[in-house]
Amino acid sequence: MTTTTGYRNLSLWHDTFPGDWQPRPSLPCDTAVDVAIVGAGYTGLWTAYWLLRGDPTLRVAVIEREVAGFGASGRNGGWCSALFPASWRRLAREGGAEGARAMQRALEDTVAAVGSDAAAEGIDCAFALGGTVSLARGQAQLARARAHVADARAHGFGPSTLDLLDAEAARARVGADGVLGAVTSDHCAALDPARLVRGLAEAVERRGGRIYEQTPALSVEPGRVLTPHGTVTADVVLPAVEGYTAQLPGRRRDLVPIYSLMLATEPLPDDVWAGLGLEDRATFSDERHLTIYGQRTADGRIAFGGRGAPYHLGSRVDPAYDRDERVHACLRAALVDLFPVLRDVQVTHTWGGNLGVPRDWFPSVGLDRATGMAWAGGYVGDGVATSHLAGRTVADLVLEHDTDRTRLPWVRRRTRRWEPEPVRWAGVSGVTALMTYADRVEARTGRPSRAAGAFWSAIGH
Ligand SMILES: Cc1cc2nc3c(=O)[nH]c(=O)nc-3n(C[C@H](O)[C@H](O)[C@H](O)COP(=O)(O)OP(=O)(O)OC[C@H]3O[C@@H](n4cnc5c(N)ncnc54)[C@H](O)[C@@H]3O)c2cc1C
Repeated sequence: MTTTTGYRNLSLWHDTFPGDWQPRPSLPCDTAVDVAIVGAGYTGLWTAYWLLRGDPTLRVAVIEREVAGFGASGRNGGWCSALFPASWRRLAREGGAEGARAMQRALEDTVAAVGSDAAAEGIDCAFALGGTVSLARGQAQLARARAHVADARAHGFGPSTLDLLDAEAARARVGADGVLGAVTSDHCAALDPARLVRGLAEAVERRGGRIYEQTPALSVEPGRVLTPHGTVTADVVLPAVEGYTAQLPGRRRDLVPIYSLMLATEPLPDDVWAGLGLEDRATFSDERHLTIYGQRTADGRIAFGGRGAPYHLGSRVDPAYDRDERVHACLRAALVDLFPVLRDVQVTHTWGGNLGVPRDWFPSVGLDRATGMAWAGGYVGDGVATSHLAGRTVADLVLEHDTDRTRLPWVRRRTRRWEPEPVRWAGVSGVTALMTYADRVEARTGRPSRAAGAFWSAIGH
């Protein structure tokens, strides 16, 4: 187990969290509940929260190996967005055109709901609904930006979902270098992830849920969760461990853990911010293939992250993988490339964490009534808002509430498992290499990479 000081070292958000990281008591003995949830991140906690809001008499236990917010939920980029890893085309194939539209509307409503539910629970997570800006830097990125907006219109979505900005309007929002245009969406908020997840844990407890920390689940089965401190028996069991799923017995091939790494700068002076913009704290990225993401934090830093860290054979997860000097150096270079004025800025924090990727890049939620096993996750790095919708939907399913949410196209779907190793390693590493190469070629030639385009079509995007 990590120490209390160790928890504070996990990320900028952990370090600057105003409360303490003292773990709650572990599971004291064998316990019987109605619903047992493994993992105290957003998925587990929103599920517990919505269950208890729906039926305050339910006995709900959350079993957490470390502390609430130890995983991605405490460490992420703080983009509370309506992004979903499966395209509208994919969604429409599962649930028809109206299903795809309903999913997008539900995600957009969820962004605002995270803010209002947090406020209603007295959680100060520095929520700022400033939208998001994805810059087009280079002709290939501009072509992709135009295609995204055309796709949105073709699916019936207006400018609040996606809009195209010309170079001047884009630079007025984000004072970055080499900007030719941008795609914007109104449906994104910047927030402090650790404050949200810690506040949520307290909200669950206020509603009668029990959270047992420093209690690892050794196995998660229909009707019971085994831990070193005792067994939790339950009618419904939800494993909500996302990027750690491969560590659970029998689940090695369910979700691949992909590392995403981040850094934070020192707080920037007002004259620097005057040039960078982002007054409304819009989150920012660009249209490259290997995702980058940033936010202006409430205390005036830039928190900036990206993919590109290696995948580890056997879907291994290890705290050592959270920090990788090579990847952090690339991130710093990418930040300075965007904002040359930050060339000499001090980086005060570097960290990372894992996210869960299903074989088809399509998150899902569901409940198998026969076994009592529920599932939720596979967000591919878009889980901050989506986990709220997931938790609420799992609660609907458990409570047998037929709602608009339970009819969305991601409900009750099953994803095929990943290939055994070393095929899995070759596939995942190959995709990272391909995206890195495609971005380099596009930057050099200005032409969209056909290889990357072929990959996105192959996975149905
Ligand atoms: C660096 C980074 C940046 C990201 N940025 C964004 C972003 O800006 N926007 C966005 O939408 N998404 C982002 N994501 C993804 C997002 O954070 C996740 O999708 C989301 O937090 C997943 O929540 P979760 O509750 O499902 O999983 P987690 O938050 O990972 O929670 C799982 C919990 O399970 C616990 N656990 C694991 N194994 C066991 C066990 N055997 N027994 C008991 N407990 C166990 C862990 O300790 C952990 O607390 C990012 C992820 C990372 C890593």
